Amino acid sequence: MANPTLLILAGDGIGPEVMGQVVRIIDWFGDKRDLAFDVDHDLVGGAAYDKHGTPLHDDTMAKALAADAVLLGAVGGPKYDALDFSVKPERGLLRLRKEMDLFSNLRPAQCFDALADFSSLKKDLVAGLDIMIVRELTSGVYFGEPRGIFEEGNERVGINTQRYTESEIDRVARSAFELARRRGNKVCSMEKANVMESGILWREVVQKVHDEDYPDVELSHMYADNGAMQLVRAPKQFDVIVTDNLFGDILSDCAAMLTGSLGMLPSASLGAPNADGRPKALYEPVHGSAPDIAGQGKANPIACILSFAMALRYSFDQGDEAARLEKAVEQVLADGARTADLMGPEGGSPISTSEMGDAILAA
Ligand code: ATP
Ligand code: MG
Repeated sequence: MANPTLLILAGDGIGPEVMGQVVRIIDWFGDKRDLAFDVDHDLVGGAAYDKHGTPLHDDTMAKALAADAVLLGAVGGPKYDALDFSVKPERGLLRLRKEMDLFSNLRPAQCFDALADFSSLKKDLVAGLDIMIVRELTSGVYFGEPRGIFEEGNERVGINTQRYTESEIDRVARSAFELARRRGNKVCSMEKANVMESGILWREVVQKVHDEDYPDVELSHMYADNGAMQLVRAPKQFDVIVTDNLFGDILSDCAAMLTGSLGMLPSASLGAPNADGRPKALYEPVHGSAPDIAGQGKANPIACILSFAMALRYSFDQGDEAARLEKAVEQVLADGARTADLMGPEGGSPISTSEMGDAILAA
């Protein structure tokens, strides 16, 4: 059987800088741990535009669809601001998401003990925090029709429509339950079933999927406003949270900030199963191309490294190796390794992107 494949799209700005550290780690796994998967590299975003005049070449799209996982750095930058919308770097990423049909967006919020003090919240609130927000990504109020700004009488009205089909809810619920089984076996579903029809259907379908196929997973339901409050008040009560596109957008950013810097946050987006039953998957740091620090060797590579750890766990069935990598990250943070974004207000001397890579490899 052919090896599974990982397609690396480093992209623009700090993308190639942080990805460089991941490539070193992949090489380490190849040498020391005998991990067999094939790695391919290609262009996306501004880098692809510079070479091909399009932010995502058709050949790259085909490779992404065939790969077992795609690991993406970041796209965009001021150099491309004046480009026509149709060839903007971000369009490359949007095309990937759309054609891979990535309907389930996974955003972990995990707090490393060593950074608990750095978090703006009380240490005991976030120390040991490890939650995963599953956000529906391809439907809901951002896409529903009718939408637009219309004339109504003598004024205008802005309209968006929250719309969810049973099958859209069903598939994202399944991805949340599957995840929960690999983690703390607990799912909290959030909607506003008290005031929204789509919320009533959401709750009903999630409950049905649970009762029929995942009765072993602990399921609770919460109104999203209460969920937001609980997330800030006592986040450790949660394991997996599953919610719609709009609430997920807000709740995942909120959860992210429980843990500190943007430079620490990985993400995954999962789609429909491939021929072998594994979901199509795109892994990427939450942060963007960070033009303000690009090219200076200052970027924190941890978000990208942890995104690769998620790929190991969810696409390559290498949970032990993922845990090994996460442990190395935890270790270097405990030892005091800090890139500039992780420096507290008292300051200190930050290490560079590649020095962080060195430290993690050594650990
Ligand atoms: P996008 O629109 O692509 O999401 P953005 O406008 O949200 O981008 P980012 O590129 O994510 O912005 O950068 C936001 C801020 O966070 C910048 O000041 C940037 O330098 C900082 N930042 C982002 N990622 C990192 C990182 N990996 N290491 C250090 N600092 C980072
Ligand atoms: Mg952003």
